[in-house]
Amino acid sequence: MSRFLDKKLSSLESYLPGEQPEGRRVVKLNTNENPFAPSPAVVDAITKEEVQKLSLYPDPVARELSESIAAYYGIRREQILTGNGSDELLAFCFHGLCPNGAAFSDLTYGFYPVYCQMFGVKERIVKLREDFRLAIEDYMDLKETIFIANPNAPTGLNVEVEAIEKLLKRDPDRLVIIDEAYVDFGGTSCIPLIDRYDNLLVIQTFSKSRQLAGMRLAFAAGSEELITALAKMKFSFNPYSVNRLALLAGKAAIEDEAYFLKTTRAVIETREWMKRELEGYGCEVLPSKANFLFVRPPVPAQDVFMRCKEEDVFVRYFPGERTGEWLRISVGTREDAQRLLEVLDKIFEEGSHA
Ligand code: PMP
Repeated sequence: MSRFLDKKLSSLESYLPGEQPEGRRVVKLNTNENPFAPSPAVVDAITKEEVQKLSLYPDPVARELSESIAAYYGIRREQILTGNGSDELLAFCFHGLCPNGAAFSDLTYGFYPVYCQMFGVKERIVKLREDFRLAIEDYMDLKETIFIANPNAPTGLNVEVEAIEKLLKRDPDRLVIIDEAYVDFGGTSCIPLIDRYDNLLVIQTFSKSRQLAGMRLAFAAGSEELITALAKMKFSFNPYSVNRLALLAGKAAIEDEAYFLKTTRAVIETREWMKRELEGYGCEVLPSKANFLFVRPPVPAQDVFMRCKEEDVFVRYFPGERTGEWLRISVGTREDAQRLLEVLDKIFEEGSHA
């Protein structure tokens, strides 16, 4: 490591993104992207004229996009802050909204512990129950800022809004941050609660249900005070983190309700079909409200992961005590799912002869 790196970062274990194989045709079910292209309205919004305007900085307060998001959720523009992916907004939350530390589950989005290390935030890890369920009782009396990915990754399991509301009521002076990256695939958003609870912040992304992972766009919704606090950090770091094309793409995407509904429904249908098929092969599959499945195959998961890769089917494997027998498989198109099943059929067949 470079001798110029600050000592406090020398032991930082950074986040390991899923592989992005370029230039090869693979079935890519490893990073929970949406298998569909962005809405045609997004493509139309990025005109030659708009590209030519890239010599100018973007609107730092994302006025038009925030108005569209606010209209969609029936809230006010001042209750929204846009950011360069949820990752950026989460970074601000860990950096500036965790004076008493951060609490989150042992199996959740892998970036949370990285941010704790990066910003020197004390972390409290709360174990999911044996069946991977998040029990809200386990969080009731904590003093730390609580982060809940809902639905959770990599399990796909969902916590009911009523349970989160109990947590919010329990201690109005404790902040609860709900990361709703996957909410549009069957969960229920907590955004309608932000008017009643100023200790709630919700983060949503355009990466999953709006097909814009490559654009880097997300937003936080909360009380005006909380949003002002987040904006203070954004404007002390990079006021222009949401670029011009992202502003246009996001607005077009959120306004194309028909495309959103069509594509999220297709993902949900394929997910449920995939789940039944995988169960038919003897896999255990958790009930998912996200665009991926958490699957325990009947033969060692790591072998399945490697063999799938040899067949150009990419899924995600997280080694570790609780996850080592499981695979996280994104829901692709029907054709992707069909190819996955063909490959699994072959692998399980080999396994039975081994
Ligand atoms: N939260 C969760 C739970 C995620 O799984 C991810 C991405 N995989 C993110 C946030 C980050 O999403 P993005 O930065 O693309 O908005």
